[in-house]
Amino acid sequence: MKAIDIHAHIPRMPGIPEYGIEPGLRRMFRMNEKPDDVEQMVETYREIDAMAVIFSVDAETETGDLPDPNDYVARTVSDYPDVFTGFCTVDPRKGRAAVDELERSVADLRLRGLKLHPIHQGFFPDDPAFTPLFSKAEELGVPVLMHSGYAAAGANTPGGGGFELAYARPIPHVDSLAARHPDLTIIMAHLAWPWIQEQIAVALHKQNVFIDLSGWAPRYIPEDLIREAGGRLRNKVLFGSDYPYISPVTWLEQFAELDIRQEARPLILHDNAAGILGL
Ligand SMILES: [Zn+2]
Repeated sequence: MKAIDIHAHIPRMPGIPEYGIEPGLRRMFRMNEKPDDVEQMVETYREIDAMAVIFSVDAETETGDLPDPNDYVARTVSDYPDVFTGFCTVDPRKGRAAVDELERSVADLRLRGLKLHPIHQGFFPDDPAFTPLFSKAEELGVPVLMHSGYAAAGANTPGGGGFELAYARPIPHVDSLAARHPDLTIIMAHLAWPWIQEQIAVALHKQNVFIDLSGWAPRYIPEDLIREAGGRLRNKVLFGSDYPYISPVTWLEQFAELDIRQEARPLILHDNAAGILGL
């Protein structure tokens, strides 16, 4: 069995400036000043015999940063099909253009999901203004991977860099969205701290909602979520690292130490993601 990391950020496309949030993230996660390139990323995943779902985030309206093009993600997937699967990103605040880009990315570029970040993109997922985007994802049958809970970007800076955490609160925003789009698969990315109880409730209540365990070193995953991941949520929880901020090597090492039921491990590491991705 090959593990599937559902949450990996593609290295910035050579030639475009880095995101404004990157220097702060590098400090917070104690990373090297020089980020890995795609070849180094491939090597990392081959060493641990894992596949990675790669994507970027288009938050141009909110941040002014140029996004990595979805074509670059698709090209990288086709360069390393044994290691990568890709999701597209669109900026929901671009309106009709976002819906069209989602359709093009799935139909023409063969990307298999949509990555969104309500905090960086500055939108509430259950705002009816964005219904056409989520209806399109539902119609295309692709999952939406959506940041939830606390954001590292902007942390410990004046005004948190202008980013507002409330956009990423599970109830009501994810819960309402899931209720209105029962055929849309939604993956709440990360532990939704400080709303982990809400996150567990939504994943238990809505069959179409999942959780990825990315963005936090597994040793910091709260006990409640570990217990549910091995129990009632064993078909709803997924391995995710948040590469490059958390190394998938470290993630897997620490996951092995957690007190999670043995029979839930292959589901979390592989089967649940394989089901969602149709692999
Ligand atoms: Zn992430």
